[in-house]
Amino acid sequence: MVYVTSFKCFRCARKYKPQEIEKLPIPRCRNCGSALDAEYDYRSIQKLILRDDFMRDDPTHWKYWAFMPVKDLSKVVTLGEGGTPLLENKRLGKTGRLLVKYEAANPTGSFKDRGSSLEITKALEHGKRKVALASTGNMGASVAAYAGFAGLECKVFIPDIVGKEKCTQIKAYGAEIVAVEGDYSVAMKQAEEYVVSHSDSFLTGDYPWRSEGTKTVGFEIADQLYWHVPDHVVVPVGNGTLIWSIYEAFRELALVKITERIPRIIGVQVENCAPVVHAWENELGEIIPVQDPKTIATAIACGDPIDGIAALRAIRNSGGEALRVTDGEALSARDKLARNGLFVEPSGAVAYAGVLKKKLSGTVVVIATGHGLKDMYGLE
Ligand SMILES: *Cc1c(COP(=O)(O)O)cnc(C)c1O
Repeated sequence: MVYVTSFKCFRCARKYKPQEIEKLPIPRCRNCGSALDAEYDYRSIQKLILRDDFMRDDPTHWKYWAFMPVKDLSKVVTLGEGGTPLLENKRLGKTGRLLVKYEAANPTGSFKDRGSSLEITKALEHGKRKVALASTGNMGASVAAYAGFAGLECKVFIPDIVGKEKCTQIKAYGAEIVAVEGDYSVAMKQAEEYVVSHSDSFLTGDYPWRSEGTKTVGFEIADQLYWHVPDHVVVPVGNGTLIWSIYEAFRELALVKITERIPRIIGVQVENCAPVVHAWENELGEIIPVQDPKTIATAIACGDPIDGIAALRAIRNSGGEALRVTDGEALSARDKLARNGLFVEPSGAVAYAGVLKKKLSGTVVVIATGHGLKDMYGLE
């Protein structure tokens, strides 16, 4: 049973039937080239899940399958992603209640595994033998692992700022690395060109499958709070997929009447790569790209974010805000988390750096996105 009914363009609002999108080598709006958002038959989902066993079952990624566009659950490719802890530590908070969603606990060390599980499942559904993508490192490692598990070949286009450890992780999973001269946006163009000219390949990346899979971060947070909605969720923003997916998860839970409201969604970027913050501060409708961004937070160095408009919408529609922090603040936040037992990479501490900078009231959930062992910048 699959509950997805259509895909809608973020920019021009054009709607597509699922089968129109499934066939495209690059699943984006055919009219304006923007990202697409899946819509579901929420009434049917509501009937299906408003039952005691759903409400009580342990939170794990595939528990929320009804909110994902997958036809055959017996063919799902999973490494046990999701079900990550939501941790409370009083020494980390200033005011209110601070909880850390520790995404480093995923199989390859970042939340990217949630999207990869769905993407590789789709690649098999489409009968593909290879996958290709552009990555700032973590998505490459994640897709490489899931492709390896499913027996698919994997090609990762990597921009020049990606650290050695991440390349090592990608290669360890048996994927091929294509070093790109230029930034992430250049790498993305090359990955897309490759898939268009190689029809046995499936494009992974921040396309609709990934964001549909990433929503489970949000579902799990609500589930782990016994279906109470926190006041704020603080999220680092690279391509904007994660922040959008979390917003969308809370919106969908309200649509199926499991919860009653949406938390304020706070997006955090680093000073040298803050196109979404800039658009929010200046009330722009479009994102102005940052050329060749330089920051130690390499996992979020996306100068021209694919889901930038979606990120803005998540922040605006939820009454949230966008914050910028410096590289130095991200590193101090990383050190503070680590000294309290939670080791994350610099990008994984950016949301927490935002929390340290800005007083937020009530229950605050901060997303710690990637494991510290992936990028130990500045540590002896
Ligand atoms: C990918 C990633 C992000 C940013 O997520 P987007 O969906 O690109 O906004 C943040 N932190 C880490 C560690 C990541 O790997």
